[in-house]
Amino acid sequence: MTKTPTLELHGLQEVLDGISRAMERETERGRVADFIPELACVDKSQFGIAVALSSGEVFASGDAQTQFSIQSISKVITLAMALGRLGDGLWARVGREPSGLAFNSILQLEQEGARPRNPFVNAGAIVVTDAILATSEPREVLAEILQFLRTASGDNSIHISELVAKSEANSAHRNLALAHMLKARNNLVNEPSRVLGVYFHQCAIEMTCVQLASAGRFLMSTPETNLISAENIACINALMMTCGHYDGSGEFAYRVGLPGKSGVGGGILAIVPGRASIAIWSPGLNEQGNSALGTLAAEKLARRMGWSIFV
Ligand code: GLU
Repeated sequence: MTKTPTLELHGLQEVLDGISRAMERETERGRVADFIPELACVDKSQFGIAVALSSGEVFASGDAQTQFSIQSISKVITLAMALGRLGDGLWARVGREPSGLAFNSILQLEQEGARPRNPFVNAGAIVVTDAILATSEPREVLAEILQFLRTASGDNSIHISELVAKSEANSAHRNLALAHMLKARNNLVNEPSRVLGVYFHQCAIEMTCVQLASAGRFLMSTPETNLISAENIACINALMMTCGHYDGSGEFAYRVGLPGKSGVGGGILAIVPGRASIAIWSPGLNEQGNSALGTLAAEKLARRMGWSIFV
């Protein structure tokens, strides 16, 4: 399969509509995340897809204007912020290896010491948020994350759902365990409750596929999208490729061939370096906690457009 010539992008709308129709027929839709009660009631028949190009053009299909909880996709933004502040200093506190375990696993932290495997598993993301809190108050950090997303997408309406943040806070036993374990092992500067307060709110940001695809352009490495340095873009994309789908990262790389980050709200952000930013949402999750239809749709889109970075 060859790379897509620009002219072929005019067929993109048809491709997205075709994928949307194919997803409507799918019966294996996975299970919605039920460990955050507020997410358990989201209707899993929904599916949306959007693709933003560096030119600013956005193509979309299905429920692409419906807001969903971005959850762990927010970890990409906090990683960008932490790298901007600490540079390589961040890696003393968090690793860069896939974990091969579930996103909220406690096992590895206990076995390997206080340095989480990567910034995308929950333990690693909690450390990243703690690192940002070293220089800013919780309110400022959340305002900065929102501002980042609003600037990147060009849409000022992006906001946090207090309901989802509260719902997660009230049932956050595993994340509390992780934060306390990190604190006990001296890899958390702030109190667990202070870090988790920010973490739950960053996860509770709501966006549509159109907003997320537009925002994701900052990871595309083109002159039009220079919100962070080229070095940090390369670093974040590498981590998305190897760790962005938790213990399903190998499968995503194999099937889709693009750096991606999933969230348990059913969203996926995937980047076609230099070409496009893709957002897909369908709330039903597979065994690894990644959107079941989202993964399938990303695979179809990458194949159809010849977008895998390996072809
Ligand atoms: N807020 C979720 C948690 O911490 C995020 C997990 C995810 O989206 O993968 O459990």
